[in-house]
Amino acid sequence: MRVSLPLLDSRQATPLEALTGPPEAFRHAPLPTLVDRKGRSISYARLSVTDRCDLRCTYCMPEGGEEEHETQSGLLSATELGRLIRLLAKMGVRRFRLTGGEPLVRKDILELVCAAGEVTEPRGLALAMTTNATRLASFASKFAAAGLGSVNISLDSIDAERFREITRGGSLEKVMLGIDAALAAGLEVKLNSVLLPENLAEVPALVAFAWDRGITPRFIERMPLGLDTEAAPVSMANALAVLGDAFGGLNEPDAHHGPARYVANERGQRIGFITPITEEFCGTCNRLRISSKGDLRACLAWRNATNLRDAMRRGADDHELAWGILQALAQKRDGHAFLDQSEHEHRNVGMSLIGG
Ligand code: SAM
Ligand code: SF4
Repeated sequence: MRVSLPLLDSRQATPLEALTGPPEAFRHAPLPTLVDRKGRSISYARLSVTDRCDLRCTYCMPEGGEEEHETQSGLLSATELGRLIRLLAKMGVRRFRLTGGEPLVRKDILELVCAAGEVTEPRGLALAMTTNATRLASFASKFAAAGLGSVNISLDSIDAERFREITRGGSLEKVMLGIDAALAAGLEVKLNSVLLPENLAEVPALVAFAWDRGITPRFIERMPLGLDTEAAPVSMANALAVLGDAFGGLNEPDAHHGPARYVANERGQRIGFITPITEEFCGTCNRLRISSKGDLRACLAWRNATNLRDAMRRGADDHELAWGILQALAQKRDGHAFLDQSEHEHRNVGMSLIGG
């Protein structure tokens, strides 16, 4: 079914009841697949399960943590999470990622993974998680049994002291145990590092660490979200210069297939780069995000959101929720405008609150 999408101006989360309800024809039609006004198909959803974290990465969170957190009862429950994943799957989403904050600080994280896995596994859909891995060692095999297929582990340094500084107190040893446990559990593991002045010289060591374990490392340009946003980001070009000195013989970055571009050595071992700053990839963006309190955002950089939690709690049916999702999608902008500091709207809000 084709639906005409209204474009809302609100830049704050909009309660669903404030939006125009679905027209009668929509209520009785099959749910539409998610395609935005620019023709971008939405096949990937990132669902945050908490805005809390056990680390305080310098580029993500203030030293004392965020000032405000959603209450326990305000977080999406396992049942609500499962329902949203089921609905999005019906609307064409094929890949789901649980993230945060740090997902593993949720006491009921296993229940959440089970609820998600119950939807994704029988349908052959991908279920992944992004984690700092400090608590992963005791969960990895249970997650794999519950239907989780892969983990993206954030690792900005393999030097214990530097890791402690960047994360303000994190234990590299625990992360290493988490990585080993994830590999032993048969989860697909990716290692992601944010490029920082502090770890630029360590990029070759991070690559070697990943390759030794059969993992493709990926480096992410830091986005101007949250703190200290004036600092110049370290770019893919900076990292490639360091890598060229260390390894030589790397080929040119390939074309974008999704957000990452890859270089490879002569043995075919790859290194990925995610370049939101120096090479915007918004034109092929296929994702939406839902925060831990149910705010659906079509873009990381803009505040426009539609709250799905409250709609579910007041008894909205699937068509009503789907209509709200379409309205949020109608607000997906062409690009993030990160380089225009006066434009994009999350420069004072860190990833842990938006849902990384
Ligand atoms: N706590 C988990 C973790 O660290 O993997 C999941 C949430 S975290 C917000 C998700 C990812 O966002 C991490 O890889 C983190 O390094 C990245 N991140 C946080 N702030 C960022 C920023 N300003 N620019 C780029 N990546 C950022
Ligand atoms: Fe926590 Fe992840 Fe943010 Fe680090 S990047 S403070 S681990 S949410």
